[in-house]
Amino acid sequence: MARFALRRKQAVRFFCQESTDRVAGALSGFVAHVARKPVLTRHVGGTWSCIGSSAEFSSDKTEDGNIIVLGWDSGLVEEILDAESANTTEAGALFGYPACCVRAVYALAQAGAAWPAELVRRSPEVGRTAKANRLAADWGGLSPVGELFPCSLACPMAAAIGFDGHESLRCLGLNSLAACLVKHAESTFRINAEGRARPSQPGVPGATQLVW
Ligand SMILES: [Zn+2]
Repeated sequence: MARFALRRKQAVRFFCQESTDRVAGALSGFVAHVARKPVLTRHVGGTWSCIGSSAEFSSDKTEDGNIIVLGWDSGLVEEILDAESANTTEAGALFGYPACCVRAVYALAQAGAAWPAELVRRSPEVGRTAKANRLAADWGGLSPVGELFPCSLACPMAAAIGFDGHESLRCLGLNSLAACLVKHAESTFRINAEGRARPSQPGVPGATQLVW
């Protein structure tokens, strides 16, 4: 959101379950373009959900809501809204995500709630950086790369986005939040038996720490 506020990112989106009129109305006072579309989401596990329509989801465990897209360009907002539920590759490109990361989303999605284990598995040992640490979001921490799923913890493109996210917070004067972001990204974690990332004490078998 910090990158978006500084127009370093052209669009963001989120899922909203309640009071969509009120939320969209309030946001339209600050953002050039706000668009929304009713969708269903199905909780996959962990922090992962699928977006779809009632035609795709016949089972239970679905929630009604709206995708809200905020953008600085009206055409882009409408394109994202169309692509979001139909073509995640196109949606990723429209959000400005690196092509390597967009290509990796399918493999991470296939892992479901165990996406952290899959992300660690596909990350080379050399070059891993806290700037690309999306894992922190799995235990409730702050992720430098926001909602982007990096293709690996060593992806230089994702790391650049993480670095820029931190810089954007500082540009907005949110220095405490910026410091908290680095602290969470550098927190020691380990992957548990379910493939989830959880905070850990240093020195425990399997404990890992990424450096900014
Ligand atoms: Zn990448």
